[in-house]
Amino acid sequence: MAGTLYLVPTPIGNLGDISQRCRDTLALADFIAAEDTRVSLKLLNHLGIKKPLVSYYEHNQAESGEKILRRLLAGETCALVSDAGSPAISDPGEALVAQCAEAGVPVCAIPGPCAVITALGVSGLPTGRFTFEGFLSTNRKSRREHLDSLRDEVRTMVFYEAPHKLSATLEDMAAVFGGDRRISLCRELTKLHEEIFRTTLAEAIAHCEVVPPRGEYVLVVAGAAPKAAQSVTLEEALELMQTLMDRGLSRKDAAREAAAQTGFSKNTLYAASME
Ligand code: SAM
Repeated sequence: MAGTLYLVPTPIGNLGDISQRCRDTLALADFIAAEDTRVSLKLLNHLGIKKPLVSYYEHNQAESGEKILRRLLAGETCALVSDAGSPAISDPGEALVAQCAEAGVPVCAIPGPCAVITALGVSGLPTGRFTFEGFLSTNRKSRREHLDSLRDEVRTMVFYEAPHKLSATLEDMAAVFGGDRRISLCRELTKLHEEIFRTTLAEAIAHCEVVPPRGEYVLVVAGAAPKAAQSVTLEEALELMQTLMDRGLSRKDAAREAAAQTGFSKNTLYAASME
């Protein structure tokens, strides 16, 4: 009988986030397949677990995947871990799961730390419907094409991004979605210097010019205003803005909220309300 492939999530920062079930699974597995064996060895030492480790990462996944599959088919149990977070989510694992599914090897995914879900929850943006876009391409043209394909996306969008690419990505997002679009920059989640910056794309760009981005980021971007809402007239949008100001919002905040709800730009509403 074939063994089971366990997908074992590991902490994205805070070591306290490893669950008892993950510890037990790592301790009981016959071997552990790891994205970077040096990184995983540190975690295993911290947990006091000694296990044979094999390497499974982007550039050896075809060859290593075959070997792991053979061992699973022979009845061994394998725990797959990545450097941090949930395996197979913007991390190695997707191909191995597909191979196992094809070969009839049981796969068990253990729930646990995952940067996309952690960021979405804390973003303050709608979570009912969202789309996970992973990493944008490092190539500017491909990145713009990807973003262009999301121009009319009404669901909340979640992206992974490296700090050295953050400013360029925010510039491209502002060019496609508009500077008024809301964004939550979720930095160093679960770590000592965790920071959630809920703002607009234009303000995020200005912020990055003053404070150079450092650490790990998830970007949660509000979806476009639904098409139906864009049929709202300017007069109606201004009435909404007035209602919001009557409730105590400043003119600036009321313009931002009315813009988000109606599809008009914040600056258009702000200027029109002054006339
Ligand atoms: N599989 C992982 C998961 O489940 O979250 C994601 C791996 S992906 C290679 C790494 C990216 O996830 C980082 O570049 C960053 O965008 C995001 N990330 C991981 N840990 C994070 C953290 N503590 N805070 C913010 N973003 C994080």
